[in-house]
Amino acid sequence: MTTLDDLPIRDDLRGLSPYGAPQLDVSVRLNTNENSYPVPEPVVEAIGKALAAELRDLNRYPDRDAVALRADLADYLGHGLTADQVWAANGSNEIQQQLLQVFAGPGRTALGFVPAYSMHPLLSLGTGTRWVPARRGVDFGLTVDEAVGQLREHAPDLVFLCSPNNPTGTALDPAVVLAVLDEAPGMVVVDEAYAEFARAGTVSALAVLPDHPRLVVTRTMSKAFGFAGGRLGYLAADPAVVAAVQLVRLPYHLSALTQAAARAALAHRDVLLGTVDAIKVQRDRIVTELRALGHRVADSDANFVLFSVDGDQQTAWQTLLDAGVLVRDVGLTGWLRVTAGTPAETDAFLTAVRRL
Ligand SMILES: *Cc1c(COP(=O)(O)O)cnc(C)c1O
Repeated sequence: MTTLDDLPIRDDLRGLSPYGAPQLDVSVRLNTNENSYPVPEPVVEAIGKALAAELRDLNRYPDRDAVALRADLADYLGHGLTADQVWAANGSNEIQQQLLQVFAGPGRTALGFVPAYSMHPLLSLGTGTRWVPARRGVDFGLTVDEAVGQLREHAPDLVFLCSPNNPTGTALDPAVVLAVLDEAPGMVVVDEAYAEFARAGTVSALAVLPDHPRLVVTRTMSKAFGFAGGRLGYLAADPAVVAAVQLVRLPYHLSALTQAAARAALAHRDVLLGTVDAIKVQRDRIVTELRALGHRVADSDANFVLFSVDGDQQTAWQTLLDAGVLVRDVGLTGWLRVTAGTPAETDAFLTAVRRL
């Protein structure tokens, strides 16, 4: 039998296994920060109609530039943005892969402040980009001095900031984003996958786009919109950045069905985003109750919470799983991450956590 090792794969991919969170069939799945609420029936119907309207024309390629969808996304983002400042792809993972392909790649470096989103180093690997894991400070924080010092040391071609940060949950101080923009010699990508869940007063990097042509803000419909299965991510940046990613995108990367479904979902954004407040209530409840139980808990601007456990986190993860609750071991010794879902899911999680 032929195995992977027999094939002439790239040396830097040898011995690796495909990445992904366990997809286990348990009743309470709180491990990938999905929105626990199913798509509401009126939106299901609208998406169904939009898809049906495309079917006869599937003999033709879709709009390569997805202009109508980008205009809808720009309208949703506000900040005076227009379609030429927005680009869309199959999830923000693909957006970030395109950014690495055009601004990084072999011979170049990407830097992130870890722990942060685990896909940033993996996308770097896949695109042949050297990954530099820069450090965070106490309690996973990041100060201007810590950020600037490491940028001076490594002068990366691309910097990933994640705000609110996954897996810690906390949004970055805007002063850090501005300092990184000042100091970074190359592109600065702010991953705002969880922006819609941020606590009041949190500012988006979208606010400083006009003065920063090397800034890219990435967003997704996977979390707040509850549209993870639809695979739609996007970026906002200077029109020149949008022109740049088009050098590496596959022609017709975004299917006619994806474009139509995403547009129909966006047209119902008030309904879809209607679950965000309820999820934030559960998020805050998890933070409060875990702290009352004596866990250390990072402040969360997202739909998940990072909390400490006694002993090793793998044992705690298994104990919770045995109680029917799947959370995420993000590989941080002594910490686990749980997604905020429905009130019933929070009940199940808190009941299970008391057994630890
Ligand atoms: C979930 C997540 C994403 C979403 O990726 P998609 O490809 O859009 O589903 C992006 N960034 C971070 C930090 C995430 O946690």
